[in-house]
Amino acid sequence: MGVVMKNIYGCTLEDLENYFMKIGEKKFKATQVFEWLYKKRIHSFEEMRNVKKNTIEQMQRDFCMDTLSIEDKKVGKDVYKYLFTLKDNEHVEAVLMEHDYGKSLCVSTQVGCNMGCMFCESGRRKRIRNLKTEEMVLQFLKIEADLNIRITHVVLMGIGEPFDNYENVMAFISILNTGKGIDLGARHITVSTSGVIPKIQEFMKEKRQVNLAISLHAPNNEIRNKIMPINKAYPLNELFPVLKEYSKKTNRRLTFEYILLSGINDSEACALELAQRIRGMNAYVNLIPYNETSHLEFKKSKTDTIMRFYDLLKKQDIQVTIRREFGSEVDAACGQLRSKYEEEKHE
Ligand code: SAH
Ligand code: SF4
Repeated sequence: MGVVMKNIYGCTLEDLENYFMKIGEKKFKATQVFEWLYKKRIHSFEEMRNVKKNTIEQMQRDFCMDTLSIEDKKVGKDVYKYLFTLKDNEHVEAVLMEHDYGKSLCVSTQVGCNMGCMFCESGRRKRIRNLKTEEMVLQFLKIEADLNIRITHVVLMGIGEPFDNYENVMAFISILNTGKGIDLGARHITVSTSGVIPKIQEFMKEKRQVNLAISLHAPNNEIRNKIMPINKAYPLNELFPVLKEYSKKTNRRLTFEYILLSGINDSEACALELAQRIRGMNAYVNLIPYNETSHLEFKKSKTDTIMRFYDLLKKQDIQVTIRREFGSEVDAACGQLRSKYEEEKHE
């Protein structure tokens, strides 16, 4: 077996600084290389014109620059959905949404997901593997290049549980966030988790201003246990004290994502119980109209049920928004395009 070369897009600025010091070069070479990669967006080492020839040759021996290929692209109103093929022929997707406040990219973090949420396409297939840092960075770079745009926001809400791939996700955030790299403000980056408590605790210590969203989807353990198996490992009575500590330590406002599933979690009693649970926290609820998938029995709540749920939370003084629906015509929900593609391929 050949030696697996590290991909240059998987290196944080710090990784590259260490690399250059190790090969007897000045640390600031890392900044120059980062500028070529992320400001000038070159595609080969030879294009790094202010780097000496023998350093370039050394880098060519030590790093690869392999990239992802775009397998499929679907375009809807204000939404572009990409399916990528990875080097080992696995697939992941990313979705670019045009909001009035900017262009937001939803990135995948794993191939499949082990959390097994009942309503989610990604959870239908077990995690095959974690995405490497470069595979997340390249979703971003490829889409910016393909659409000739600057992405203003990144949400880690595609396929996978980011906190089940913690180190690579943190390196990705570092590359996004560093001024020498992509230079995206931390407040423009959101990580979404189904509630992996030990990783929330670790994340709390990172001291990054990145937004944290929690996929709550139920006001109590009884309902949450039925739709999110992770709740058995990390139930709400253990999750909430950690979230309260998170708010206190970071001073950041939390987001609770709440998909409204008809007849399951959308009753008035659920709204009141939810309000009760989060009252007094620095948090808001983002109500998500369910994107129905072809395989699962869950149904989207009716519009008036969604509105009533919203009003009830408002009346309870809970900050609440309803997520705008994007691209049901392009199967924009988490994991749907990949799932369809794999099925067609295997038919
Ligand atoms: N694993 C992480 C992040 C990826 S999922 C998490 O669960 O938070 C991102 C969000 O999409 C989650 O809130 C998830 O519950 C939601 N989601 C999954 N399937 C969906 C669907 N069919 N319609 C609407 N939202 C969905
Ligand atoms: Fe995984 Fe998130 Fe889907 Fe649950 S909702 S299966 S955690 S990707």
